[in-house]
Amino acid sequence: MAKTRVIYWFRTDLRLHDSPALRAALDLNAEAFWPIWTWDPHYVYKTRVGVNRWQFLIDCQNDLSKSITRLNPNSKLFLMREAPQTLFPKLFRAWKITHLVFEKDTDPYARARDAVVMEAAKEAGVEVIVRYGRTLWDSDELVKKNGNKPTMSIKQVEAAGPKIGPVPKPIPAPNSMPDPGETTLNFEREVPEQHPDLNEGCREKKDKSYEKIAGPNGDFAVPTLAELGFPPATTPHRGGESIALCSLHKTTSNATYTATFQKPKTAPTAFSPQSTTLLSPHLHFGTLSVRQFYWDVQDVLSSYKGKEKASTPPTSLIGQLLFRDMYFGAQAHLGHAFSSTLHNPKCRFIPWQLSNAPTPTTTPPSNPASTSTYTIDSPQAEAWFQRWKYGRTGFPWIDALMRQLRQEGWIHHLGRHAVACFLTRGGCYVSWERGAEVFEEWLIDHEEACNIGNWQWLSCTAFFAQYYRIYSPVAFGKGWDQHGAFVRRYVPELGTLDEKWIYEPWKAPEEELRRAGVRIEGDGASGSGEEEGVYPQPMFDFAERRTICLEKMKKAYAVGLYGDDHRVLDGSWKHL
Ligand code: FAD
Repeated sequence: MAKTRVIYWFRTDLRLHDSPALRAALDLNAEAFWPIWTWDPHYVYKTRVGVNRWQFLIDCQNDLSKSITRLNPNSKLFLMREAPQTLFPKLFRAWKITHLVFEKDTDPYARARDAVVMEAAKEAGVEVIVRYGRTLWDSDELVKKNGNKPTMSIKQVEAAGPKIGPVPKPIPAPNSMPDPGETTLNFEREVPEQHPDLNEGCREKKDKSYEKIAGPNGDFAVPTLAELGFPPATTPHRGGESIALCSLHKTTSNATYTATFQKPKTAPTAFSPQSTTLLSPHLHFGTLSVRQFYWDVQDVLSSYKGKEKASTPPTSLIGQLLFRDMYFGAQAHLGHAFSSTLHNPKCRFIPWQLSNAPTPTTTPPSNPASTSTYTIDSPQAEAWFQRWKYGRTGFPWIDALMRQLRQEGWIHHLGRHAVACFLTRGGCYVSWERGAEVFEEWLIDHEEACNIGNWQWLSCTAFFAQYYRIYSPVAFGKGWDQHGAFVRRYVPELGTLDEKWIYEPWKAPEEELRRAGVRIEGDGASGSGEEEGVYPQPMFDFAERRTICLEKMKKAYAVGLYGDDHRVLDGSWKHL
């Protein structure tokens, strides 16, 4: 029998514990086993990734590599710097691979990429093994059990999930890892023998290609931020399976917190420590298994005997994980169409003041993100968008949140509610797609399915329809933090302002402003907000904008168009 030579391809699962795909790979009892990560140019060039998420990813890779080496000093995580679509056919030949194993990824780009890799494997006679492990239930199965429809409510998930079966129990981490085989990349076979000139050219190409793939020192090492040309990260949040498991343990060892967790009762203004688990970036990179999270919480619930009643979905911790599965189920069914308004049968079309230009086509683009062009219907809305993005709206609660996001890469869920509502239907009337792009760049937990789904929820374009419920940029924060500690932390120019004015500094008397060393002036767009002691005027009268937004939403709901309507696609919506 042929000896098995296995590549394990780490992607959405940078962990050793509870990984069904890794278990399947190890069960092959390989004579040679390469744990690898491929540097996908899609991630590098197409996805918006800020420096904080890069740092988090590098942390995860370093931690994983060390854990692999602890199991086998001859092994580690081999970082390959080439697109998987072109790299794998070469690796299959050079290393005489018999099996390729990876965790299932239902993101639309990942599906397309994996199809190409699987085709190459087929041609090379390599067996591919795929296991799901990223969600509680396999998202495609969830869709099937939901009547072949995208999961658009948590009730649908609660009904469809159990039809698949109970959430699988976690699998222990392996306690050994086989040796890798040779790591030389001999791609010479590609060179046609009969063309000596071409042969020469290719040999040179081969050497360069090796250097490119294995990194500057030829050792497949995890890169540093400096090597990638980035400045140092500003986030205090660090990645890696070791930290993820410690954080989960810290959460679940507080049985009362875990069993009685109610999301709407957690403070978005808490920052040291924050009021929720902050496990989202670990789930994103797969350094924490969601099933481990689920079962550790269930274990606490089954032995909980506290005075306070245990919480239940949707507000409980289990409920939070169900929301995550819901968005993955919606994305798994809708594919590329899920990420935008156009062509999306589930997303309401709203003629935002700053929006996507409807393209007169009936075929969905292969990757809407790469083809999106924006019509700036209103230069004022563009200015508002920029002020929102950089935390200079003149509303301290909104600005504090956006600055926390930019600096640290994470904000509380209700903070995300506040800024998303403000940008879209509750203030600026800017398309949710613009906001989602900013989150994509700055969040360390950016997860396409969750980001897109939540932006649709907050903009009342899908999942949620109560557009008349608008958050006040003053009362919302104040309700949680009367003294304004959160605002003072992230908007230091207002640090010594009396709490009476901290959420509405433009209303403070001159004398009070002088005492606090604050000047309220400028439009925030010219950078005046960054001058010491200067904070911008609010960019609009919120009460006025609220009324305008409500009227516009009411009209859009009455017209009732969705992203796949021909009137949206051919532009005739303008005449309605
Ligand atoms: P906890 O409250 O401790 O919840 C535990 C876990 O449940 C989270 O780690 C997360 O994996 C999951 N979860 C909780 N709430 C949600 C939710 N509403 N949707 C999906 N999963 C949830 N979450 C992301 O993981 N990635 C994103 O890119 C993302 N973008 C968002 C954009 C907007 C506009 C909004 C309103 C929410 C977004 N969320 C996103 C959801 C949510 O805000 C974060 O998951 C949560 O704040 C993470 O903090 P935590 O780990 O402390 O959550």
